Amino acid sequence: MPLEIVTIPCLSDNYAFLLHDDVTKTTALVDAPEAAPILAVLDSRGWSLDFVLLTHHHWDHVDGLPALQEQHSPKIIGAAADAHRLPPLDIMVEDGSEFSCLGETVHVSDVSGHTLGHVAFYFPGAKAVFTADSLMALGCGRLFEGTADQMWQSLSSLASLPEDTIVYSGHEYTQSNLKFALTIEADNSELKTRAIDIANARANGHPTVPSSLALERATNPFLRAAEPSVKAALNMEDQPDAAVFAEIRRRKDQF
Ligand code: ZN
Ligand code: FE
Repeated sequence: MPLEIVTIPCLSDNYAFLLHDDVTKTTALVDAPEAAPILAVLDSRGWSLDFVLLTHHHWDHVDGLPALQEQHSPKIIGAAADAHRLPPLDIMVEDGSEFSCLGETVHVSDVSGHTLGHVAFYFPGAKAVFTADSLMALGCGRLFEGTADQMWQSLSSLASLPEDTIVYSGHEYTQSNLKFALTIEADNSELKTRAIDIANARANGHPTVPSSLALERATNPFLRAAEPSVKAALNMEDQPDAAVFAEIRRRKDQF
C-alpha cells in the first residue's frame, strides 16, 4: 500500500505535505507554514498527526506548529544543527541519519545552501523526496546562509537519487523560475514542453509541485550547470561546474 501524499497550499505560495500510511494508520507532515489548511485536511480525512518533519528554520516552514500542537501531539523531527533555532525537537537528525516513519526508513541528507542545516527527507518506498527550499521546481532556494559551492553539492547529491523520484518542494515559484530558465536555455525542447504544462496547470489553479527528478534534470538550469550546452551558453566552457552554478544563481538573484 503506497503512502498517500496530499499537497496543501499555505500562506501565499508555500506548500506543506501530509503523508498517510493506511497500514500503520499513521500520518506525517512535512513543514508547517500555517495550521488552518493543514488542520482542515486532517479533520476531513479523520487523521491524527503523528510526526512533523521540519526542513529548515525559516518562519514560513515552522510557524504553524504551535496551533497544530494544540490539537495533536506529533513527534517533531529536525536537524540537530538547527536545534537552537527550531521548535523543540523529539528526534534530531543529520546528514546520513535514518529513522522509521509511516512504515518506511526515511533517509536524511544535509542540503545546506539556502540555510545552513537545511535537510531533505527521502522516502525510498514512496519514491519521494521533500526538498523545501533546496531543489525547487525549475529552481533552487536563494543563498541566505550557505555558499554557492555548498548549494551545488546539495543539488548534486539530490540529483543522484533515482530519476523516477518525485520532488516535493516548498513553494509555488515555478512560473517565475520558468521565465528565468528560458534566459539560460531558450532552445531546450523539454523546457519548452514543460512551459506549456506549467501554463496549463496554473491557468486551472493546479500546483506545479511535485515534479519528477528526471524532469528537473532535463529542465532545471540549476541542476544543469555541468552540461556542456549550458556552459557554452554562458561562455564558461572551461569553468568548473560549481562556478557555472554560482553564475546561474547570481543571474537569478538579479533577474
Ligand atoms: Zn526558506
Ligand atoms: Fe520558504
